[in-house]
Amino acid sequence: MALRKLVAGNWKMNGSLGALVELDAILDAANANAGLDVAICPPFTLIAAAAARVPGLPIGAQDVHMAAKGAHTGCVSAAMLVEAGARLAIVGHSERRADNHETDAEVQAKATAAIAAGLTAIVCVGETEAERDAGRALAVVAGQLDGSVPRDGKGETLVVAYEPVWAIGTGRTPSVADVAEMHASIREKLGALLGAEGAKVRILYGGSVKPDNAAELMAVADVDGALVGGASLTAAQFVPIIEGA
Ligand code: PGA
Repeated sequence: MALRKLVAGNWKMNGSLGALVELDAILDAANANAGLDVAICPPFTLIAAAAARVPGLPIGAQDVHMAAKGAHTGCVSAAMLVEAGARLAIVGHSERRADNHETDAEVQAKATAAIAAGLTAIVCVGETEAERDAGRALAVVAGQLDGSVPRDGKGETLVVAYEPVWAIGTGRTPSVADVAEMHASIREKLGALLGAEGAKVRILYGGSVKPDNAAELMAVADVDGALVGGASLTAAQFVPIIEGA
């Protein structure tokens, strides 16, 4: 089953109010390519301004807390994100798993909270270079899915992003054959975890997606779009990726 593709930008800790001007051309490209979904996930501080500037472009967060409210200094709840205008939330990005020591169980709780609040949750998984070299990539990712994927809810509200850690920000990507093998394995695992709903979960590829490799990567079976970091920061780079999808 071919799912509607999603091309999502992850601005990470980049951007400013001035950078939101990039969203105008990104929205134009999204409208011109209405057969797929486009979203941008800026830092928390820009979500409300981004959503106000381009109401037609889904805006997402890069993290969310699992609790509804309370004594969690520095954190932001799913309801707060919704109020700010967000429609998606990335959870379990490898940079947060590394920098903030997030566990699979925490990632699962965050995804559950996001979905309960009406957000689409993008759950990130991916192996390190050492794990791939050891022949453990498929097993590592299957284990992350076991621990991080919420079991309830509709498949449409969940997105999985396969991002090999060694491909993020490095200019390196796995071979098309390796991407195909991994995405087929993720699809099978989602079926085992979620039953029929697993077939509705979009599986994005992420890690050094650029204008010159996006079309090839997104043509792979079970690659239902892309999560794009560096190349999502400017319309000049991101628009050709949308067009290539
Ligand atoms: P990159 O980042 O496209 O800059 O490699 C992808 C990501 O971390 O989501």
